[in-house]
Amino acid sequence: MAVNKENAPAADSIPAGGAFLVAPLGATRVHAPESFTDDQRMYYQTAQQFMVREVLPHIDRLEKKDYPLLVSLLRKAGEAGLLSIEIPEAYGGLDLDRTTSMLVAEAMTLYGTWSVSIGAHTGIGTLPIVFFGNEAQKAKYLPKLATGELMACYALTESGSGSDALGAKTKAVLSPDGKSYILDGNKQFITNAGFADVFIVFAKVDGEKFTGFILEKGMPGLVVGKEEHKLGLRGSSTCQLSFEECRVPVENVLGEIGKGHRIAFNILNMGRLKLGVGSAGGAKNAINLAWVYARDRKQFGKAILEFGLIREKLARAVARTYAVESMAYRTCGLIDDRIASLGGESAAAHEQVIRVLEEYSIESSILKVYGSETLGVVIDEALQIHGGYGFIEEYPIERGYRDQRVNRIFEGTNEINRMLITGMLLKKAVKGQLPLMEAVSDLDAPLPEAPAGPLADEWRAAELIKRMALQVIQAAVTTFGMELEHHQEVLAAIADVVMEAYAIESSVARTLAHDAANPVRHAIVRLFTAEARERAFSRARYALACTLKGDDQRQAAAALAKRDEFVITDPVADRETIVTAMEPTAGYPIR
Ligand SMILES: Cc1cc2nc3c(=O)[nH]c(=O)nc-3n(C[C@H](O)[C@H](O)[C@H](O)COP(=O)(O)OP(=O)(O)OC[C@H]3O[C@@H](n4cnc5c(N)ncnc54)[C@H](O)[C@@H]3O)c2cc1C
Repeated sequence: MAVNKENAPAADSIPAGGAFLVAPLGATRVHAPESFTDDQRMYYQTAQQFMVREVLPHIDRLEKKDYPLLVSLLRKAGEAGLLSIEIPEAYGGLDLDRTTSMLVAEAMTLYGTWSVSIGAHTGIGTLPIVFFGNEAQKAKYLPKLATGELMACYALTESGSGSDALGAKTKAVLSPDGKSYILDGNKQFITNAGFADVFIVFAKVDGEKFTGFILEKGMPGLVVGKEEHKLGLRGSSTCQLSFEECRVPVENVLGEIGKGHRIAFNILNMGRLKLGVGSAGGAKNAINLAWVYARDRKQFGKAILEFGLIREKLARAVARTYAVESMAYRTCGLIDDRIASLGGESAAAHEQVIRVLEEYSIESSILKVYGSETLGVVIDEALQIHGGYGFIEEYPIERGYRDQRVNRIFEGTNEINRMLITGMLLKKAVKGQLPLMEAVSDLDAPLPEAPAGPLADEWRAAELIKRMALQVIQAAVTTFGMELEHHQEVLAAIADVVMEAYAIESSVARTLAHDAANPVRHAIVRLFTAEARERAFSRARYALACTLKGDDQRQAAAALAKRDEFVITDPVADRETIVTAMEPTAGYPIR
């Protein structure tokens, strides 16, 4: 993998997935946008210019499902190198690191339909072959996927199995001559299906062994259904597929028979992380639109930007977005560091990358949930700033509002991902990969000393919220034991506390590591932390209420309240600092 190995830290110095919950803040270096390399910045700029010059002028036609135009633009993106970021050089790709791939994905969020179409092609459509294809499959498909000569899609969901993806009914049976698998079944909601040439499809061999296959357009028995008409992403293609005795050559089995879940879930890990990054991008776009509108719109004789409530909305949106951005690029950096520390240039390197993605699956799920919900809140407020015009199609915020809604649904719904976050933390603890129970037994030890200077209160807040999470985990594990997996409210509330801890910690760590003296960043982090700590406390108290009865609940709530330290804040002053800083950038103030 083409990652920068020269500056790679030693493998044992890179925190494990989920370790943020048990290690004090500041123990390790934290990646952030401020540490992007010149090359990474250049790819972002190239991608952004491509959007502005090639894609945005065509939105009206694209929204009307002009697929020939969409495909021709995707091919142009291929010529510009934007389809080949993660494809190995040997197969015509650029083989760049994940941070670059995420930056390019962020630039694509200027238009939702485009972002999802290109994302389905380069991510879930292409990466299964990069990671799990054999040499012949890679040589056959990857060079053409890199240029856009072939378009890809990924078909996991079925009409009867969405969240329960392994409950798929599509069946594959070996033909009597042993040369093909015969597939029967259906797939639902498949992005890019209307124009795809390559279909990554999951089916159960003999109705049991969940397996990946590569299908091609025109294979007899592969039927692409009609286009769905959707709330948002109207220009993207979303169709049903059906397989009617569809004959797939045995050479087109992807990976091992019965190991399709490794493909399906690991590709989703990458998709979840990218969705988090994309959400930060989408939120910044919405903030920029809202700021410009607020500057230009006059009511009561002045720009609405001058009103306290509009300024409050903008400042809060910036603070939340900064948190998502901090978490997202911190996680990408962890993944890139891990991969760089492993070395390796061969097929085995891909197996290692898969393991690294698995390692940070907790963080990927956090980004999926927290990112999509942050974008939902930010874009809702951005639309509100537009007043009635926000409800009118002519204004891009209207489309953005509709387009983002699905982010909480695909790549694993937010309910499923919340349960995964807590479930994976506990699983790692049980396997001895994360010292969660050791941290629980140290719950009442004094907090480590916060670094003196700005953000000391926020630093303490991150540590205290981690302890809230640990306290609630302890109560839940003690009360429910193995039955905890059936107490979904508790799992989800724990996940909420864990997410707030990661969000505060990432914002504080980024600021202290990269721009510790900047008062605008201090204001952003203070404003964010003040709200996040209240959300975390409320969710932790709810989790205890769902877990403990009578006096046990009272005592636990009292212990929890001690972790909810009072901090003097000045949200009005902080929002003024933030919104004033938005003027030179005409929007999101951190560049
Ligand atoms: C625009 C769009 C594009 C898509 N693109 C693709 C694609 O390219 N490829 C692909 O394979 N799929 C794709 N999907 C499908 C998407 O991944 C699924 O819609 C999603 O996984 C949810 O499945 P479902 O719709 O069947 O909902 P269900 O699984 O039926 O869920 C319904 C509700 O029940 C909840 N729920 C389900 N199980 C549980 C549980 N155990 N506990 C608690 N709550 C639960 C869910 O969170 C949700 O709120 C796309 C969907 C859309 C809308």
